[in-house]
Amino acid sequence: MGRRFDQRARRAHEVLACAIMSAEVPLRCQCGRVRGRASHVSPSTGFRFICYCKDCQAFASFLGRADVLDAAGGTDIFQMPPARLQLTAGTDAMRCLTLSSKVLRWYTDCCRTPIANTATGPRFPIVAIIHSFMDHEQDGRSRDEVLGPPLCRIFEHSATRPLQANTVSRPSLKIFARRASMMFRWWVGGLSRPTPFFDDRTKAPHVAPRLITRSERAAL
Ligand SMILES: [Zn+2]
Ligand SMILES: [Zn+2]
Repeated sequence: MGRRFDQRARRAHEVLACAIMSAEVPLRCQCGRVRGRASHVSPSTGFRFICYCKDCQAFASFLGRADVLDAAGGTDIFQMPPARLQLTAGTDAMRCLTLSSKVLRWYTDCCRTPIANTATGPRFPIVAIIHSFMDHEQDGRSRDEVLGPPLCRIFEHSATRPLQANTVSRPSLKIFARRASMMFRWWVGGLSRPTPFFDDRTKAPHVAPRLITRSERAAL
């Protein structure tokens, strides 16, 4: 009886450990200098979507990384709370720019890998991790397996070529409500901090954002 209980307890422990491990995704820039990990990652703990906006396209163009966009100019993004993100190496190579006053776009100086988009301050409980910074190869599971399929596409009108119908849905009220309730839970749970992008004391970004001028923008 005791032995069987021990076996069951051990098995339960293994299942739990596996579940915890599977919720962690390694983060890595293309050259491997900037690294980290995202924890509690699953289709129900974040929000995956494809963004076709012109700013995301300009960001990839500025970095010379058109390869991070899909065939129609879309960026595959996973939104999650900042507190579940840790950067463990190479943070001195982090840079950021802004194309509008609302979003900071973070990337690496070493290999110009897009990292994430954040708000301009540390209070907003969302960081939008760009797919190029998630190391699914090392993780050994596909992006769809870990994050689930994209829930919607946004700014479809800026897609650079016609999008296939019925692969991913348009944002619906239900999807917006799901995102809003997630964001509310992260905010109530205090998951906007700690964040690897902002100084905890001064609230300033760790790197001064580079402002892209109008003429620079026009050239992208
Ligand atoms: Zn790099
Ligand atoms: Zn976008």
